[in-house]
Amino acid sequence: MSASVFPAKSLPELPISGSTSTYQVARIFCVGRNYVAHAKEMGGEVDREAPWYFTKSAFAYCPSGSTVPYPPGTSNYHHEMELAVALGAPVFKGDEDDAKAAVFGYACALDMTRRDRQQDGKDHRRPWSLGKDVENSAVLAPLTRAEDFGKIGDQRIHLQVNGETRQEATLADMVWRVEEIISHLSRYYHLSPGDVILTGTPAGVGPVVAGDVITGGIAGLDPIALSLTDPE
Ligand code: MN
Repeated sequence: MSASVFPAKSLPELPISGSTSTYQVARIFCVGRNYVAHAKEMGGEVDREAPWYFTKSAFAYCPSGSTVPYPPGTSNYHHEMELAVALGAPVFKGDEDDAKAAVFGYACALDMTRRDRQQDGKDHRRPWSLGKDVENSAVLAPLTRAEDFGKIGDQRIHLQVNGETRQEATLADMVWRVEEIISHLSRYYHLSPGDVILTGTPAGVGPVVAGDVITGGIAGLDPIALSLTDPE
């Protein structure tokens, strides 16, 4: 037996609402521009050909309710309120029925973003890692099991900064439905339990500063919160 020269790290464990069990997060996929009004505010258009993605490390996970420092390397840190989908079964080259059957649960999520670093990436045709794979930027609230949530319809999705509403839409405004996203992504990855997909943000994204309190919700799910303190 060989042993790791440094202490082994463990993957994050996401709480499950109403349960003592947890859900281990292994990979975090994020969908780009999945709400028409947000695509427009970012100066782009929705691509109806296929959904597209970026990723965050599982080590970018931050539990809802945390207080974290404003991150280094940005002066334009943005909130993005999103529906997260957690898989509970393998899917590879799956159709939409396979995709639907593989959903374990849903959660409120924040895809916190260094918008200035993301823009650098766009300007120079470079990857978005510094903009998106930010420590503490994958904020997740406890999971609600799919059978307890029911069907995705016109549930309200919203975000407030210091109590003032900044994002407001419904899940029916998503361009790509959850089954379409999972089915499409499964043509590229052997999806399995531990894979979490952030399904994109509605319009109204914007900057936050140290001292701000971000809260958000999706009807039928546990709410989400994040507080920012001064940079380290
Ligand atoms: Mn996003």
